[in-house]
Amino acid sequence: MNALEISGLEKVYKGGFKALKGIDFSVKEGDFFALLGPNGAGKSTTIGVISSLVNKTAGSVKVFGYDLDTQLMELKRQIGLVPQEFNFNQFETVRQIVVNQAGYYGVPRELAHQRAEKYLTQLGLWEKRDEPARSLSGGMKRRLMIARALLHEPRLLILDEPTAGVDIELRRSMWDYLTRLNKEGITIILTTHYLEEAEMLCRNIGIIDAGQIIENTSMKRLLATL
Ligand code: ADP
Ligand code: ADP
Repeated sequence: MNALEISGLEKVYKGGFKALKGIDFSVKEGDFFALLGPNGAGKSTTIGVISSLVNKTAGSVKVFGYDLDTQLMELKRQIGLVPQEFNFNQFETVRQIVVNQAGYYGVPRELAHQRAEKYLTQLGLWEKRDEPARSLSGGMKRRLMIARALLHEPRLLILDEPTAGVDIELRRSMWDYLTRLNKEGITIILTTHYLEEAEMLCRNIGIIDAGQIIENTSMKRLLATL
């Protein structure tokens, strides 16, 4: 089964800029997939469309078979999204931010608290649970976003440039954590402009440039051609 199927996807922003020019790719269940490309290539736009934050202009998107146009609620339930910007309320506590996510997905309160403890512990944030998010370092905020995205236990985790601005040590521990999640069965898609990051983590890769997928192959095959 495919975790993601995208075909003929186009995005024209207001003002007429064509950010996606008809892209096609799919990601198999269980894969660790990198969407690699330079700044401005269309990575965030692609992720925005998949997670229904950005309206597409044309094309189709399916997540575990659920169609974005006709099965939006089911599609959203499959996805955990870690956007680039810190879009949580900085004055809420770490634990509140994670637990509050339960409301959007109908996760029962008690289960939400159990999972918050599990994921915050795994991500090294449990001791910070009662601190306001604004007191966290950038790397901790990034990990908080991951814990929040996992609360409803999505089958597909999508991360937009997860290690941008993160120092090398923390980057490695995030890589280890994502690898562990993937081994436990979660399909992961991340965007990056570092080939090294894709190389360290990913099995398959799509290279995007100026709104087009210019290469879609396994990491092994790509490295053999370099
Ligand atoms: P749409 O409703 O077509 O998805 P958005 O609501 O996402 O468009 O965009 C709102 C406005 O924000 C755009 O019309 C644009 O002027 C501006 N904007 C936001 N991000 C960018 C960017 N990266 N480059 C240029 N303009 C931007
Ligand atoms: P990437 O994530 O690969 O850096 P983006 O998807 O953010 O690329 O942006 C792709 C292109 O679309 C860029 O040229 C960007 O300026 C433009 N863009 C992004 N958001 C908007 C927007 N809301 N309105 C207009 N143009 C946008």
